[in-house]
Amino acid sequence: MSIVENVQAVQARIAAACVAVGRDPAAVTLVAISKKKPVADIEAAIAAGVQHFGENRVEEAQEKIPSVQADVTWHMVGHIQSRKARLIPPLFNVIHSLDSVKLAGKLASEAGETPLDVLVQVNISGEGTKSGLNAFGWQTDASVRTALWQDFRAILALPGLNVSGLMTMAPIVDEMEQTRPVFAGLAALRDALQADLEHPLPELSMGMTDDYPIAIQEGATLVRIGRAIFGER
Ligand SMILES: *Cc1c(COP(=O)(O)O)cnc(C)c1O
Repeated sequence: MSIVENVQAVQARIAAACVAVGRDPAAVTLVAISKKKPVADIEAAIAAGVQHFGENRVEEAQEKIPSVQADVTWHMVGHIQSRKARLIPPLFNVIHSLDSVKLAGKLASEAGETPLDVLVQVNISGEGTKSGLNAFGWQTDASVRTALWQDFRAILALPGLNVSGLMTMAPIVDEMEQTRPVFAGLAALRDALQADLEHPLPELSMGMTDDYPIAIQEGATLVRIGRAIFGER
């Protein structure tokens, strides 16, 4: 299948997942994750109508983003080392992978006049391999909840950041359905934080090639899709 056919198939599946739960497909933004793929593939996806792209490594983004002429929105979805924070604002429009208070401080101090749009990455599943503020068991474990709320308060207090929501990654599972508790957990966490901290968090970045229909059913507003558009890496 070509990139244009893949984009059409993904868009159709996004729409079907929305219709299944009575959501407006326009409320879900497709972010094509172009990591490890050449600029020519990005151009093909742009020609197919994709307007949002994501990368996960700063070095690769530095090489590719300036060579894309079209006015698209760039999303950073990978872990950012604090010492590379200064490279982020010139390249990216939205950061999904703000995963520590320390990084938040660095990014905030690198933001210019306009605040940086960021999402806070949280680790709902508790897997040691996943980045993000620890949110494993936040509904039952008071110490996890206290630490998490404290970190959010610190991040929200920083000028220079526009915190608009949460991001998470589901574990790799055999059946897509097994990811549902993680996505539902992110939506519930968002609701709780919003209510307690009185800060709107409308965006939920969740869902990748193997699980995005479930993420959409659970409220995803941004789906990050690589392989279903560009093929295996
Ligand atoms: C690679 C990547 C994706 C896309 O993964 P696919 O399985 O190729 O859809 C999404 N989010 C993040 C953070 C990634 O690193």
